[in-house]
Amino acid sequence: MSETLANLLQETRQFPPPADLASAANVKADAYDEAAEDRLAFWERQAGRLDWAQQWDQVLDWTNPPFAKWFVGGKLNVAYNCLDRHVAAGNGDRVAIHWEGEPGDNRSITYAELLALTSQAANALTDLGVTAGDRVAIYLPMIPEAAVAMLACARIGATHSVVFGGFSADALTNRIQDASAKVVITADGGFRRGKPSALKPTVDEAVAKCPTIEHVLVVRRTGQEVAWDSEKDVWWHEAVETASAEHTAEAFDAEHPLFILYTSGTTAKPKGILHTTGGYLTQAAYTHHAVFDLKPETDVYWCSADIGWVTGHSYIVYGPLANGATQLMYEGTPDTPHKGRFWELVQKHKVTILYTAPTLIRTMMKWGDDIPKQYDLSSLRLLGSVGEPINPEAWIWYRENIGRGGCPIVDTWWQTETGAIMISPLPGVTATKPGSAMRPLPGISADVVDDQAQSVPDGGGGFLVLREPWPSMLRTIWGDDQRFIDTYWSRFDGLYFAGDGAKKDDDGDLWLLGRVDDVMLVSGHNISTTEVESALVSHPSVAEAAVVGATDPTTGQAIVAFTIPRGSVDTEGDAGEALIAELREHVSKTLGPIAKPRQIMLVPELPKTRSGKIMRRLLRDVAENRSLGDVTTLQDSAVMDLISSGMSSGKSDED
Ligand code: ATP
Ligand code: MG
Repeated sequence: MSETLANLLQETRQFPPPADLASAANVKADAYDEAAEDRLAFWERQAGRLDWAQQWDQVLDWTNPPFAKWFVGGKLNVAYNCLDRHVAAGNGDRVAIHWEGEPGDNRSITYAELLALTSQAANALTDLGVTAGDRVAIYLPMIPEAAVAMLACARIGATHSVVFGGFSADALTNRIQDASAKVVITADGGFRRGKPSALKPTVDEAVAKCPTIEHVLVVRRTGQEVAWDSEKDVWWHEAVETASAEHTAEAFDAEHPLFILYTSGTTAKPKGILHTTGGYLTQAAYTHHAVFDLKPETDVYWCSADIGWVTGHSYIVYGPLANGATQLMYEGTPDTPHKGRFWELVQKHKVTILYTAPTLIRTMMKWGDDIPKQYDLSSLRLLGSVGEPINPEAWIWYRENIGRGGCPIVDTWWQTETGAIMISPLPGVTATKPGSAMRPLPGISADVVDDQAQSVPDGGGGFLVLREPWPSMLRTIWGDDQRFIDTYWSRFDGLYFAGDGAKKDDDGDLWLLGRVDDVMLVSGHNISTTEVESALVSHPSVAEAAVVGATDPTTGQAIVAFTIPRGSVDTEGDAGEALIAELREHVSKTLGPIAKPRQIMLVPELPKTRSGKIMRRLLRDVAENRSLGDVTTLQDSAVMDLISSGMSSGKSDED
């Protein structure tokens, strides 16, 4: 970007917190002042929410930036904090996880039971030769054993590397090799879209190329046939479920490596993001308490992310369990066996807090308002969003149709690298604006700067940066300190640059504008994809949109939009052409003529990463008619064929 980002979208709607939520909120407005007064003392108090075996000597060591150490000299055990201490406090009978399998089977596991299972798994891993500092790969479906496996690693000080169960043998191989993992924990398979989907053959293929792997620990989930190597392979039900349920957790250093998580690879070769123990758990637990206002005695919390993403790490496993939450965990897809499955689960478990992604919200918009209407969603009191910018109209849809007009929405900005939420409303404090993540949380210092690293004024756009270290920050890229420095700390001197564009509105509230790599340069103006997409989604016929800049002889780049109509919209023949013309006008009216798309295509699907994010890079290739290259990380490569065929019919003329 040669200049700062244009600020085109104006949004004036604002929603104050419900009075009852505000008066009983876990965190109130004074938290901002308290943190501003003394940031380190603030984080020190949040660390005090955990049980430490040994107190730290120093809150932050930042003498060798960008390599931070938090709570230096402190010692604690993560699994102890997530399990034992709740049982010791008399809450062993509280349900930790209500689990729902895709085929309809279910389990409810109390804190006492989860502690017993984790202790057994810790003993079994120890018997398999795993010791503190070893790496363990976890490649599992969304079953309770995934959480147990992570907690068992944490309990014995082994560093886990969870690999999303939908990834290929190559992806798994690369991640095992990069971390030199000693054991893989997997399952025969999981249920996905109504059928068993095998995992073990993928692991077998990977392990054949990974000499560091000594054992493969296999959960029996689907009962399908598996190949068996009696030297290496061990059944979970034989090794874990027969092991002693007694295990004394040893305390580890605050900077002991807790996990490696490879970024999803939307932009480049995956990076092994390293998180450590004390600072990570402090911020995961605090943010879960503050942003979701969790009341452990009464709330039923549901984060619909997969455990293979950072959202699953911080807001299914570590944050909620550290806070003693009761949560729902669901194995399958939202449309199996029917498109109301999510809402049926909310109704059944009386879920009070739901944390999901814009991709799901927009899919639900596409499927239609009548589906959630069939269920009783009155238990919900708070909604969250993460993973992509949420378009204002999708936000409103979420509030009206899922939150029945009354639930606050917390749009939470963070990354695998940040480990925990960084920018978000506080639900009892913030008057939210649809589409804005609002303010940095107490103790966090985010800013938007121009290309000279100068803070932009209110109303301006630019690069989102973090000015000060934070407890759950990544410590490095596993095995590659130089790449850590180059990737995150070299664009602006002394600042962490996250890769995202953002703007400050006239009140100074923050709006995420997508990745700076996606920004379009149209006739000398830097236009964010997010703003044009949001303008399209604000039209009542549109459920989802992806926008890219394609090379253009007159304007440098021209805006090309791929648009998914809502379920009920007629797009056949002339109706489709008329809709396209109307949408181009609509964008021009909403954002100004500069943002009017050259071309709009109506498509049934968009290419997405495995974590559900739109892959604009591929759409740019379609828009410029380049060959498609590697589409293996797409959810459905047939989508690309559909999108390509949509090009011929949906192309409109240039002005
Ligand atoms: P990779 O870094 O490998 O390309 P990724 O960035 O998609 O993959 P994640 O760490 O899961 O992997 O996602 C973090 C990114 O998701 C952020 O940098 C931002 O682009 C986007 N994001 C997350 N939450 C929000 C949000 N609330 N609003 C806007 N964007 C968000
Ligand atoms: Mg990223």
